[in-house]
Amino acid sequence: MSHQNILVWFRNDLRSHDCETLYQASLAIQKTGGQIFPVYCFDPRHFRHTQFGFPKTGAFRAKFLIESVANLRENLRSLGSNLIVRIGKPEEVIPDLIPQLEINSIYYHTEVTSEEKGVEKSLNKNLKSRNAATTNLKQFWGSTLLHPDDLPFAIAKLPELFTHFRKQVEADLLVRPPFPIPKLPTLSTDLDWGEIPSLAILGLAEPEACDRAVLQFHGGESQGLQRLEHYFWQSDRLQVYKQTRNGMLYADDSSKFSPWLALGCLSPRYIYAQVKQYESDRMANDSTYWLIFELLWRDYFRFVAAKHGNRIFERTGLRDMDIPWKEDWKRFELWQEGRTGFPLVDANMRELAATGFMSNRGRQNVASFLTKNLGIDWRMGAEWFESLLIDYDPCSNWGNWNYTAGVGNDARGFRFFNINKQAQDYDPQGEYVKHWLPELQELPAGKVHQPWKLLPIEQKRFQVRLGVDYPHPVVDLFASAKANEAIYNSL
Ligand SMILES: Cc1cc2nc3c(=O)[nH]c(=O)nc-3n(C[C@H](O)[C@H](O)[C@H](O)COP(=O)(O)OP(=O)(O)OC[C@H]3O[C@@H](n4cnc5c(N)ncnc54)[C@H](O)[C@@H]3O)c2cc1C
Repeated sequence: MSHQNILVWFRNDLRSHDCETLYQASLAIQKTGGQIFPVYCFDPRHFRHTQFGFPKTGAFRAKFLIESVANLRENLRSLGSNLIVRIGKPEEVIPDLIPQLEINSIYYHTEVTSEEKGVEKSLNKNLKSRNAATTNLKQFWGSTLLHPDDLPFAIAKLPELFTHFRKQVEADLLVRPPFPIPKLPTLSTDLDWGEIPSLAILGLAEPEACDRAVLQFHGGESQGLQRLEHYFWQSDRLQVYKQTRNGMLYADDSSKFSPWLALGCLSPRYIYAQVKQYESDRMANDSTYWLIFELLWRDYFRFVAAKHGNRIFERTGLRDMDIPWKEDWKRFELWQEGRTGFPLVDANMRELAATGFMSNRGRQNVASFLTKNLGIDWRMGAEWFESLLIDYDPCSNWGNWNYTAGVGNDARGFRFFNINKQAQDYDPQGEYVKHWLPELQELPAGKVHQPWKLLPIEQKRFQVRLGVDYPHPVVDLFASAKANEAIYNSL
């Protein structure tokens, strides 16, 4: 076989471990001889605005992305290779590189959502129109724990309920072992490698550092692997994951793997292999199982997106429900800014705005409040999350919003989170809300979650004036849910 050069196009797979594209490229050129050229493109479309006008990639995620790309370059350099970085649409940048680097094949991990699929199609089209049709495009799957080819059903037959999906896949769970870090050929240095852009070049300002953040997240494969090392092996928190995962206040309440998973800095198959190692070296219990269970949720939302395509982004959702959602910007802003008068909602929304992260418990509550209490278009919430979350993943975000808004594949219909009860169950001492709402600092635990009940004399004693220091509730919790439930049930 004649010598061939392979371009490895990195996307949301910013890692060298368990990276099939890189690994298969290294095997291929061991046989044929040739070079591997890793490439990453900062796509300007990711830095535009969403339909409701929010920055599509806000500063938190953009910073995390820049750090992740820089770390990928470092890690590739330590393997003797490097990373070509460009700002531009991949479907334009890559065809330009083909003649210059004498590329024969392009290896990439395929995605499932429409924007990402659109880029793959345009790349294919542009290669054809530039007479580069002989360039072989080879796609791989690397984003989930389970490979679609190993599922006991075709994607088109994916069960509509998570429980059915889980039971069927768990009956004979097959997780492929991670690919080893490959040996890469040394790349010559006389290439224009390209500079990694700053936030300013991407049109964004440096986010303010926040010392109250649950964790100082830094992007990159090395940081992701280090987080796993800490959570599993150094602090041994995997063994109590099931009991602590709903916590909102502490770094080790849950794994915090999501930002690294979203950009592919951490591979789910690698996490699985490490769980199995932990189970054999230390212990296997319901917590070690539960982390896998949660990763199956992540897989499920990706397969749902693959099955249903753009329906996850549509107002009527997967259930095709024509709910008369409101586009009430005044109330939406109260929600965005954490000024609804419900401390659990406000604390979580302020955490998101200050750090780009929110716990799963928090996300469920704020999403329920926006849709089931305020009756506001769930897509506004989903886009606000898209803008801010450092772990934004189109399938997990839009899938979970479908689910929480009651338009997804959730058989339970109108499921409303009782914020008062949730606050009592998950923040009984009020430590979390006080962390983010210092104006409620003096309130005793028994009063901090329902400040609207404070008598004037208590407001004075606890130094919080309702309507001045902290807002009155924007709605009556139960009356608003009842009204929205009636609308929902009438459909
Ligand atoms: C409205 C809403 C929007 C969300 N948007 C996103 C998103 O954009 N990106 C994202 O990664 N997660 C999203 N989630 C899921 C979940 O909130 C986060 O994955 C989780 O909070 C991340 O924290 P962790 O890594 O400590 O999770 P852990 O509890 O440690 O869970 C381990 C991993 O399992 C996966 N996982 C856990 N719960 C879910 C879930 N419900 N759906 C999908 N995967 C899950 C994640 O990859 C997570 O890192 C959303 C949830 C809701 C309710």
